[in-house]
Formats: sequence, structure tokens, C-alpha cells
Amino acid sequence: MLTLRRQELPPTAGLPLRARDLFPGPPSLAVDLAALLGTPPLQLECSGTACLLIALTALRELQPQRRRVVVPAYTCPLVAIAVQQAGLELQLCDLRAGHYDMDPQALRAICDERTLAILPTHLAGRVANVGDALKVAREVGAYVIEDAAQALGARHHGISVGLAGDIGFFSLAAGKGLSIYEGGLLLARDPALRARLAETAARIVPRRMGWECRRSIELLGYAALYRPRGLRLAYGRPLRRALRRGDLVAAVGDDFALTIPLHRVGRWRQGVGAHAASRLPGFIAQTTTRAQRRLPRLRQIEGVEVFDDAAGTQGAWPFLLLLLPDQTSRDRALKQLWQSGLGVSRLFIHALPDYAYLAGIVSPQDVPHARDFAARSLSIGNSPWMTDEDFETICLELETALS
Ligand SMILES: *Cc1c(COP(=O)(O)O)cnc(C)c1O
Repeated sequence: MLTLRRQELPPTAGLPLRARDLFPGPPSLAVDLAALLGTPPLQLECSGTACLLIALTALRELQPQRRRVVVPAYTCPLVAIAVQQAGLELQLCDLRAGHYDMDPQALRAICDERTLAILPTHLAGRVANVGDALKVAREVGAYVIEDAAQALGARHHGISVGLAGDIGFFSLAAGKGLSIYEGGLLLARDPALRARLAETAARIVPRRMGWECRRSIELLGYAALYRPRGLRLAYGRPLRRALRRGDLVAAVGDDFALTIPLHRVGRWRQGVGAHAASRLPGFIAQTTTRAQRRLPRLRQIEGVEVFDDAAGTQGAWPFLLLLLPDQTSRDRALKQLWQSGLGVSRLFIHALPDYAYLAGIVSPQDVPHARDFAARSLSIGNSPWMTDEDFETICLELETALS
């Protein structure tokens, strides 16, 4: 039995803020990040989902006869909500067996002249196979939007993710690497498409003082509480309460509102992000080193499969993503670990058709590989506060669950 710790480790490695980040600074977040990541100009928006909504709105105007958006059947519910809010049709693609990538054959089969966009998704910071999506997209005349919400800093052959496809987006939400509590960045290789995205945002994104005030207060709370003591209150307690009542969707925060707010990001939050961004390269290097050091230990555990970088890719490491042999062993492993305060969690709870609250958005359908992924996966946080001793405790618990 694991004893409950006084401190709580976060399930993902966010870049911790410092008090001096909160002093006003130049609102240069997007410019600074473009320089750090080596990308063309980035467009800052109020969330990753807002980025997707803007991208879909822009593409819809370019190709008004196309209405279908193809997304992996196992992804963030916000993606489905954005497609709905853009007035487009969601089309799910099942995964490759035992993998987060969309199945290339299934993808080929469902795409045609009605397809507007395909969304390969860099899940858990791992670099997804964008090539498959690009190939199909070029055949049918669709666009590729890379969902890099979880992959700020990830690279493919040295180039930032988000630039192989037509459009990409990152999330700056709490717990997703660099955070201004809620935020997102759009990127596109093609200057004409970039201009469209900027023009679309200028047209549909209003200034809304109320939202910016709320996000500013939330960012202060995040800065204060995103550390092991504060997380007990802000993350651990609500988590354990949700687990006690068996509400797993709430436990991982998959219970999103069905309307996506759109508003401009204020100067102060941009300044906070810009201060923190100067530490991002060092932070990415540290999280990568820590993850790579821990992978071999996990691989020693019989029955554990852990996702690593594919050849030519350098992912980001917000957490380590594991597959266990079956749902029974995964659930046995989580029984103690999930509520232990050690930062062990699950990614999305369900395949998209299995969220009751999305019933009006996602039609019922059979997506066996996505369901299998939801049933067998778990995540181990990669925050700076997880000690080698904590990590070993987790490994021993996994070994017990799998023996
Ligand atoms: C979090 C997430 C999003 C949405 O980003 P927000 O900034 O939270 O709106 C989209 N896709 C994936 C895969 C995500 O994890």
C-alpha cells in the first residue's frame, strides 16, 4: 500500500513559473518562441482549441464544398468540439493497433473529395506520422493540420513539428509545457496561408475583457500553486474526490464545456509567457534527458511497452506514455498509483464515441483500436520534482501489478 504523500507531483511537466515572471514585460511571447523554435512567425491565440477553430474556419472559406474533418478516434475531446463549432462534420479514423497514429489504410479509405482536413496528432509529445496524412491529403485535395498541442519543442529531422503539414498548433494550457494558463500558437509554412489565418482571427476573435481578467487571475493561481505543495490542493484533492465517486472523466479533466471561448490574449499574459519562454530550451533539454534516462528501467518491466522517439524525431516529454498488456493489468497498476500523488494518470479516458457528454457531437461507431488504446494506456509524469526514488516506487508498483 502506497502512503499518501504530503506533496503532489503533477501528471505532466509544465515549466514552473517564477515570481519575477509576473512582472510586466514586453508582450513578445509569439516572436520569442518563433525564434527559439526556429519557425516562421507564430500567431498567438487564447487556446489550442481556438487555434484549431480559427484554422478550420479559414480552410472552410477556401474550400466551401468540403465539410469533413478527419481526426484520430482517440484524442482530446476539445478537438471534436472545435470541429462542431466550426460547423463542420467530424469523421473519426481508428488508430493503428497498439499505437497513437491513425491507421493509414483506414485513413485512405475514409478520405475523398468531401474531406477538408486531416489531423495527425503528436500525442504525449511523440512525433506522429504526418507523412501518411500528407500523402492521402495530396491525393484527395485536403489540408493537413498537425495537432501539436502536447508537443511544443518536438522536432522531426531537426524541424519543429507543425511545419510538415499545412497548419499546426501548440497549446499553452496549464500543464502543457510552457503555459499562460490558456493559450495557443498557430503556425503555417506558407505565407499566404499564414495571412489567411491572421485575417480570419482578426475577423472572428473579439477583445473580451471579462475573459482576459479571468485568465489573468487563473494564471496567478497557477503560478502560485504549480509546485508540489500547491498541487495537493489544486490537483490532488479534486482528483481523489473524482476517483472516489468513480468519475474518471472528471479525474483527468476531460469534461470540457461544449462552447469554445474566443478572445484576444492580453499584454500582461504575453509578457509572463515571454519571461518564462527564455527558460524553455533548458527545460526541454532537462525533461528530455530525464525521460531518456528512465525509459530503460521501464523497458525492463515485462509487459510494459513505452513510447519512445521514432528514428529522425526528437519528441517533447511532458510525461511518459505506457501501454500495459490488457485493461485488467492497467487498472490493477492504477489502483494504488493514480491517487498516490506520484503523478501517475491516464491520458484521455475514452475513445471519442464513448464520452456520454459528446453524444450530440460524436456519432456512435466502432473504433476498436482507439478503445484498446484507452483501455491499456497510462501516463507517468515527467516533472522536475519527481525524484529517482519516486520513479523507482512507481516501477516497483508496476512490477507488482504485472506479476
Ligand atoms: C489539450 C489538447 C488540445 C486543446 O488545447 P487547449 O490549449 O487545451 O485548448 C488539442 N489537442 C490535444 C491532443 C490536446 O491534448
